[in-house]
Amino acid sequence: MIRLETITLREIRLPLKEPFRISSGVVSERRIALLELRDVSGAVAWSECVAGETPNYSPETIDTAWHAITEWLAPRVLGHEIEAPAVLPHLEQDIRGHLMAKAAVEMGMWGLEATMLGLPLSQLLGGTRREIEVGISLGIQSSPEALVTRVMAALAGGYRKVKIKIQPGADVEYVRAARTAAGPDAPLMADANNAYTLDNAESLAALDDLGLMMIEQPLAWDDLVRHAELQRRLRTPICLDESITSLERAQDMVALGSGRIVNIKPGRVGGLAASVAIHDFCASNGIPVWCGGMLESGIGRAYNVALASLPGFVKPGDVSPSARYWERDIVTPEWTMTDHGTIMVPKTAGLGVEVDVERVEALTVRKHRCS
Ligand SMILES: [Mg+2]
Repeated sequence: MIRLETITLREIRLPLKEPFRISSGVVSERRIALLELRDVSGAVAWSECVAGETPNYSPETIDTAWHAITEWLAPRVLGHEIEAPAVLPHLEQDIRGHLMAKAAVEMGMWGLEATMLGLPLSQLLGGTRREIEVGISLGIQSSPEALVTRVMAALAGGYRKVKIKIQPGADVEYVRAARTAAGPDAPLMADANNAYTLDNAESLAALDDLGLMMIEQPLAWDDLVRHAELQRRLRTPICLDESITSLERAQDMVALGSGRIVNIKPGRVGGLAASVAIHDFCASNGIPVWCGGMLESGIGRAYNVALASLPGFVKPGDVSPSARYWERDIVTPEWTMTDHGTIMVPKTAGLGVEVDVERVEALTVRKHRCS
């Protein structure tokens, strides 16, 4: 049982090695909100809020999350006796949305519970995998040739899945160039981040001949009905990301036929309990799932790796090693990829990595303690 004494929020600014461009914007420095949760026993765990600087992925931003956590969410959990799996219902009552803010608190509680029980987080969640297959996500490049260079480097580096960000005007020609260079069996997929409508979906149908593992979230961020219409026209499986914000939305996806694969991001669905519930539902309905990424630091990565160790995560996750995005991560050891394209699931208690608190303090631009 956990009884939280304090939650300390910090905002850090972590420079990306290179700008990351998707259909809705570009990021060159990641503003990240970190939470340090302290139990009355003195035990500590860190978590991360995945909300971005602007509301271009979901309505949340780091600033709305900061407000939600300090004003509404932290008071719900501080001083109360709660077990990690039961946190989300506490945070849900009369607080609509703010799922990334809720997830940051909820995941921190899981991290704290694993630490206090002396168990690896993956084990607490029911994980069975010893290593996770790693995929890479490539931002929109300046030309098909530039994309080919990046795709070939990723495959040579051992990545088990290469995700190509697309948008109208940077889609079929780009993906075809990648497919031609990489060969028919290369594990390629595309992610549109909502850049299409049913009216400009012809280029998505043209992707059908390029043997993609899946096309991720081509239509609006909150849509299910039009995705169902599109899926009926495509052979390539649609994978939903932005649209799946809860177990109920995953159930709706299956009922409507809106997609055949789910990208689970714990930050998007309110945390780990909801992620596990979606995983369980998908597993019992023959829907493959995989763990997406939100340009997390090594702290957020720890939660994703633990989640992706569950048996239904049958496709490679966007759980790139630290060096993919950062000159230097804020955890030790940094996350590294094996020579066969996997990340090992930590066997040590809690998150399996230590937070470099000195480095975090040096990167901190604001701090607030809730008690
Ligand atoms: Mg996506």
